[in-house]
Amino acid sequence: MRTQIVAGNWKMNMLFEEADDLINNIVEFVKTNELDNTAVIVCPPSLYLELATDQAFETALNVGAQNISNFESGAYTGEISAAMLASMGVEYVIVGHSERRKYFNESFEVLAEKVNVALKHNVVPIFCCGEVLPEREAGKHFEVIEKQLEESLFHLKKGDFANVVIAYEPVWAIGTGVTASPEQAQEMHHFIRGLVAQKYDIETAENTTILYGGSCNSKNAKELFANVDVDGGLIGGAALKPHEFIKIIQSF
Ligand code: PEP
Repeated sequence: MRTQIVAGNWKMNMLFEEADDLINNIVEFVKTNELDNTAVIVCPPSLYLELATDQAFETALNVGAQNISNFESGAYTGEISAAMLASMGVEYVIVGHSERRKYFNESFEVLAEKVNVALKHNVVPIFCCGEVLPEREAGKHFEVIEKQLEESLFHLKKGDFANVVIAYEPVWAIGTGVTASPEQAQEMHHFIRGLVAQKYDIETAENTTILYGGSCNSKNAKELFANVDVDGGLIGGAALKPHEFIKIIQSF
């Protein structure tokens, strides 16, 4: 049975005390609630990763980073390597978020390198893919997603691919309050799972966790997560409020 995941992408939000408080609330929740086959992940800004790994220590809470360098180590001022994350107990990293593709010009090639370096250090990439609105309106969303997966993920061997999480995040839904309908999400997740089956095999596809991201909140999570191919969510804005995030975790 594939793992269900709720992951919070805080982006560039929260001051230290707010971060401390938010992590505390989530830790209390995971300590006092049975999470059946569901992983909860917080992805704070990198400055707070140590705070998060300290608080999450010996609890069911997992910690993820929002970004890593595509390089191993060395003279790359301002960058954080996969090995550093691993050495801090960080288990996941978001790769290919549309904001990084757009504002930091991350190419297919750089994203493939990030995936590789993360896997090399046993950090699980949460690989984001998604189409922009004009692409959906032009009916090109399936080919856009296929290209993103082909170029940055499908070079992996089956054994490595087994350690990847995919997040379908239609760019038109991110931070807009416009959510993909449960039917749109299921249709794309089913398509992605089919691509994985074609590229690898059915077993690999069945075991791949595919998250939905884009204005997912406590009101729409249940309907989205009820779909057979939607294995949870990558949550932005709604991950900043403890009660909201916890309600989303309870939506399976
Ligand atoms: C995201 O940025 O990954 C995201 C899903 O954001 P939001 O939930 O705010 O749309």
